Amino acid sequence: MIRKTAYSKIQKEPLGIRVEGLSKSFGAAPVLRCFDLTLERGKRLVVFGRNGSGKTTLLKLLSTRYRPDSGEIWINGNSSRLEPNAIRRSIGVVLHNPMLYEDMTCNENLRFFGNMFDLDDLSDRISDVLGKVNLVSQKEQKARNLSHGMQKRLAIARALLHDPDVLLLDEPESGLDKQMLDDLGPFLFKSTRGNRTIVMATHNSEIGLKWADEVAFLSKGTIVYKASRVDMDEGRFHDIFLQQLERAT
Ligand code: ADP
Repeated sequence: MIRKTAYSKIQKEPLGIRVEGLSKSFGAAPVLRCFDLTLERGKRLVVFGRNGSGKTTLLKLLSTRYRPDSGEIWINGNSSRLEPNAIRRSIGVVLHNPMLYEDMTCNENLRFFGNMFDLDDLSDRISDVLGKVNLVSQKEQKARNLSHGMQKRLAIARALLHDPDVLLLDEPESGLDKQMLDDLGPFLFKSTRGNRTIVMATHNSEIGLKWADEVAFLSKGTIVYKASRVDMDEGRFHDIFLQQLERAT
């Protein structure tokens, strides 16, 4: 195992995401317990788990929205404790809450976000991402007047606007039809510099298995199964998936 001090000094390591000893509780209830994770740059990890298993909490910790109780996260070599702003610039995030300004139009929402990151060529970037999520004809509509699926698409457009190396996605399939997901896949997977590192939580085994390079199951605050997609034991995966569904009902 690479020790923290040594790891922090290696800036050009091949890992996209590394998590060591991550713990998070709410009150007395532990959600993640001394959690370790490594994900190579350019790989896609899909995390499954029943409701309440901690998937959203993990994504919020990775995105620096939550602070861990203990442990550390590095994304593209940046520490969440020491360099959270560098992490925020390198990630695109789509959570359940689309985090849009409801009284602003699609265009205005994206412009606001782009200005926050001081992005060049903002008009071109906005046209590009609105095209990718098929919202060009809605660009002057206020976010509050968009359907749930359109709001999700706008949130995805915002996550892609700064062409991040890393994407964190919490159930991106919710509100999107299969065709839209199939069309979006290639735009999510690649930045202009190469394959994106992606962590995605989902309940949808079809899309999850299709998109994953690696799969993991979270249960009781830790990973109970992790495998690379190519050498995954599909029988064991489906057994765990069914167990999770039964427990969730
Ligand atoms: P999942 O995404 O797998 O459904 P979550 O990460 O949303 O799970 O939740 C894990 C547990 O943490 C749940 O018991 C949930 O109630 C609790 N939890 C999540 N966020 C908060 C919060 N902000 N305050 C208190 N409890 C929370």
